[in-house]
Amino acid sequence: RAKLDGGGTVRRFDPELFALEEQRRKAEGDILRALDVGEFEVHYQPIVDLDGEHTVGVEALVRWRHPERGLVPPGVFLDMAESLGLLPRLGGWVLEEACRQAVNWQRQFPGFEMNVNLSASQLTNPHLVAEVRAILERTGLDPEHLVLELTESVALTDLVESARVLSELKSLGVRIALDDFGTGFSSLSHLSALPVDVVKIDRSFVQAMPDSGGASVAEAVLHIARTFNLAPVAEGVEDAAQAEWLRELACSRAQGYHFARPMPALGVTELLDRQADRDICA
Ligand code: C2E
Ligand code: MG
Ligand code: MG
Ligand code: MG
Repeated sequence: RAKLDGGGTVRRFDPELFALEEQRRKAEGDILRALDVGEFEVHYQPIVDLDGEHTVGVEALVRWRHPERGLVPPGVFLDMAESLGLLPRLGGWVLEEACRQAVNWQRQFPGFEMNVNLSASQLTNPHLVAEVRAILERTGLDPEHLVLELTESVALTDLVESARVLSELKSLGVRIALDDFGTGFSSLSHLSALPVDVVKIDRSFVQAMPDSGGASVAEAVLHIARTFNLAPVAEGVEDAAQAEWLRELACSRAQGYHFARPMPALGVTELLDRQADRDICA
C-alpha cells in the first residue's frame, strides 16, 4: 500500500523495514521483561597486581541469564539495548549491584577496587552524575574505590562535553579509566584534555606481544600512558609469556584469562578467601 504524505512524496510499505521495526519492538519487550524479572547478572573479572599476582579489584561485566538461550554475553544484546535507549537503566542497575558487592568485599579487603563500564548514552545522560552520587550514598561505597570505564570512542565523540561530565564525576571522588586504550589512536592529541586516571591497554596489543614487533607496540602504548601520567592496566592477558613481558615493561596491573575469567560474585569471594589463607601461611 502506498500513501501520499504531506510533502507529496510516495511512501511505500517496506517489508524489510517493518521486519526490523518488529524485531526492535520485540527486543525492547524482552529486555524490559528481563530487567523486571531479574534475568541480568553481574559477573566479575579479577584485576591482578602483576608483582604478587594478587587480586586487587574486579571489573563488573553484565550477562543475561536467558530462560531459553542460557548465559548470554553482552556482545549479543548491549548494542541493541543501547540503541533502544535502555542502557541508562540497565547500566544503572549494574552500577548499583557492583557497588553493593564492592562494599561486601571491602569488609574483608579494604581498598578492593570496583571497575564498572559506562556506555555512550550513559555518559550523555544528564542524570548520570546525580545517579552515581545517589548510588554511592545508597550503597555506602567509598568513591575512591570506584573506577568508571569508558572507551576512547565514547569519550571523544564530544570532547568538551565529555571533559565536563568526567570532571563532575571526578569531583564525586571516583576515578576514570579509558577502556580499550590505543584502538582510537587519532585521539592521542586529545588525551590531555580528558581528566582520566587509568588506561586499560587493549588486548590486541597484549596478544601481539610474544613476537618482538608486538612487544614494541605494547611498550609504546605503555610509554604514552606514562607520559600522560596514567596508571596502566593490561587487558586480555592469556598466557604466562605475556604476563612476563608486561612485568618486564613495568606494567603493574593486568587482567585476562591467564589469571581468571569473569565469574559470579561467589567465585570472587572464594578466590579472595583462598588468597587470604595463602597470605596467612606465607
Ligand atoms: P571490556 O570493558 O573491554 O571488557 C573486557 C572484555 O574482555 C570482557 O568481555 C571480558 O570477558 C573479555 N576478556 C577478559 N580477559 C580476556 C582474555 O584474556 N581474552 C579474551 N579474548 N577476552 C578477555 P565481555 O564480558 O563479553 O564484555 C564485552 C564488552 O561489553 C566489554 O568490553 C564492555 O565494553 C561491554 N560491557 C560489558 N558489561 C558492560 C556493562 O555493564 N555496561 C556497559 N556499558 N558495557 C559493558
Ligand atoms: Mg571495560
Ligand atoms: Mg576493555
Ligand atoms: Mg573491550
